Formats: sequence, structure tokens, C-alpha cells
Amino acid sequence: MTEQSCIFCAIAAGQQPATVVYRDDRVTAFWDIRPQAKVHVLIIPNQHFSSLDDAINADPALLGHCLQVAARLAREQGIHTTGYRVVTNVGPHSGQSVFHLHFHLLGGNPLRLALG
Ligand code: AMP
Ligand code: ZN
Repeated sequence: MTEQSCIFCAIAAGQQPATVVYRDDRVTAFWDIRPQAKVHVLIIPNQHFSSLDDAINADPALLGHCLQVAARLAREQGIHTTGYRVVTNVGPHSGQSVFHLHFHLLGGNPLRLALG
């Protein structure tokens, strides 16, 4: 998938509707369209990487920023005490379906333990 046809690039650029909960010059966070938990937010870098594997040489501060935004949003949503999960899927075995790097923030209810 090219950046031109990438749905998450379009959301980051404000060209595709999404329920955006946070945006700055480096990252955008928005509610997942098919939530798998009471809280299910996606945090993406505005810059296109097809997955974490593609971001292996990216600015480490950008990846750290994504995780800090996830932690801040977890506090905002009030799920930091009950707990939550931050996960990113890479490639076919993980079930990755959108090929723009994204971190899922999941919480608000007990999560199934699915490690493989
Ligand atoms: P993954 O399977 O890890 O690639 O996750 C992709 C996620 O993106 C899924 O949870 C989808 O429900 C979600 N998703 C796909 N399209 C959109 C969209 N336009 N707005 C918000 N979430 C989306
Ligand atoms: Zn993209």
C-alpha cells in the first residue's frame, strides 16, 4: 500500500473522518472504528511506516512519543489504575490489517490474554 492510498495517512492529514482524541505535529490518536474493548484508541505516527519493522531506523524519540501519548490517553480515559494493554501488530502472523504503524491502546474492561 502506498502512502497516497493509506487510510491512516489520510486520517493523520485530516482528510478522512475519525474521532481524533489527540493530535500534534508527530502523532495522531483516534478511536478504533471497531472497538475490541471499552477503550480502544489507535496511536499513529503522522509519518508513514508500514509497520514497526519498517520503522526500525526511525527516530527512536518518535516511537517513544507514541508510547507516552498512549500512557497519557490511558490516564485521560481513567484506565491507568485498572490497567490496559498497548500492542502493535506486524505482518501476517499477527493479523495486521492496516499497513501504517499503529499502537492499539486497549482497556476499560478485563482483556483476554492472547499471546499466540
Ligand atoms: P491491525 O489489525 O493491528 O492492523 O489493526 C487495524 C485496526 O484499525 C483495526 O482494529 C480496525 O478496526 C481499525 N481501523 C481500520 N480502519 C479504520 C478507520 N478508518 N478508523 C478507525 N479505525 C480503523
Ligand atoms: Zn500511512
